[in-house]
Amino acid sequence: MIRLLLIGPPGAGKGTQAALLAQHFGIPAISTGDIFRENVRNETELGLKAKSFMDRGEYVPDSLTNDLVRDRLSQDDAAAGFLLDGYPRTIDQVNELDEMLSEQETQLDVVVQLTADHEELLRRLSGRAAEQGRSDDTPDVISRRLSVYDEQTAPLIDVYASRSLVAKVDGLGEISDVTARIVEVINARELS
Ligand code: ADP
Repeated sequence: MIRLLLIGPPGAGKGTQAALLAQHFGIPAISTGDIFRENVRNETELGLKAKSFMDRGEYVPDSLTNDLVRDRLSQDDAAAGFLLDGYPRTIDQVNELDEMLSEQETQLDVVVQLTADHEELLRRLSGRAAEQGRSDDTPDVISRRLSVYDEQTAPLIDVYASRSLVAKVDGLGEISDVTARIVEVINARELS
């Protein structure tokens, strides 16, 4: 049973690692980006509201995002642990998540900070643009997403570090090597 967050800039590989870690630990991966994209695809009310923000590389407003996560975390499969990928991304979301978890009388076990240098992030994001054609992987929007991350999300690492929750992991190299590094830091914490 483990409750963890994956935090890191766009292109660090959070989504890829989230899926592999979820499988490894037998917990659901909850990716707010994926949930928003699915809603955009299905043209739901939430999707219609989120799309314009996503296409500009801006964050979807906290109220929408918090409601979505509150709803998802209250589902049965999240009771035995979860991995949050891409949430929280703002201080307001950190506070809201704290509240959700205290209502459930649980807390986070670890925050995995996935790192990669700026050049590698750009290389991966533009590669993905060519492969997947995501509407927010154009050069202007990529650059906006990286600065929004630096402004609003990078500071959250200090917040969680002050609670001694952060494990920093190098996101460069083979996908399976990165997974192994993450599993290792998590197991080391669980044992200590
Ligand atoms: P990346 O981390 O590569 O930017 P994601 O798939 O995690 O990609 O997110 C894509 C977009 O979805 C973000 O740019 C943002 O518009 C929206 N989004 C995802 N998670 C959040 C969040 N926690 N708060 C606000 N917006 C979010």
